[in-house]
Amino acid sequence: KNIQIAIDGPAGAGKSTIAKIVAEALGFTYIDTGAMYRAVTYKALQQNIHLDDEEKLADMLAASTIDLKPSPQGQLVFLDGDNVSAEIRSNEVTSSVSQVAAHAKVREQLVEEQQKLAANGGVVMDGRDIATHVLKNAELKIFMSATVEERARRRLIDNQKRGIDASLEKLREEIALRDKKDSEREASPLVQAEDAIFLDTTALSIDEAAQAILKLAQE
Ligand code: C5P
Repeated sequence: KNIQIAIDGPAGAGKSTIAKIVAEALGFTYIDTGAMYRAVTYKALQQNIHLDDEEKLADMLAASTIDLKPSPQGQLVFLDGDNVSAEIRSNEVTSSVSQVAAHAKVREQLVEEQQKLAANGGVVMDGRDIATHVLKNAELKIFMSATVEERARRRLIDNQKRGIDASLEKLREEIALRDKKDSEREASPLVQAEDAIFLDTTALSIDEAAQAILKLAQE
């Protein structure tokens, strides 16, 4: 059965890794919405647009195309036709993205795009506001979290795989600050939806977390 599964939560909780496995198991489309906010941020940095300038950012976005394409290595992100999948994971983008994502005029455009992407067939979408705004009627809503220490540890391993270096302490600080910005912003803050199921992944393996969601999806 084709359903919509929304997975929200703070940075590094395992959303994208687990969402991807769940989508594959169900034959659904996986959509990583964070990648879209990252692509906008990457372009703004390239074009030296001030990250507080909501109007300029909104105009820039309106004149851009962001495409998400599934691939065996995971979702690829194309910005104006260029593959920027690696670039959008840089430390610079990561530490700036919450500032860009705080603007309502940026969010409106991306949310509309995300809703279009989810319109046909089964979908697993991960982000911060999927259950509360993007897919309010999703059949299954998961709010995934883990302790900040565990999330920093996972990011460290992930970064090492991507060849990005950072210390555990620095990652812990960056994650905590990003969560604070994402939770305290006015436009669609990061918050657990009333009808979402809380999943603490601190002590779970990737597979255990994926199985827990698959079980809920089959109910
Ligand atoms: O999921 P990821 O860590 O790649 O998201 C990067 C940032 O994009 C988040 O910290 C948040 O500021 C923003 N974001 C958002 N709403 C979403 C997805 C991501 O505001 N649905």
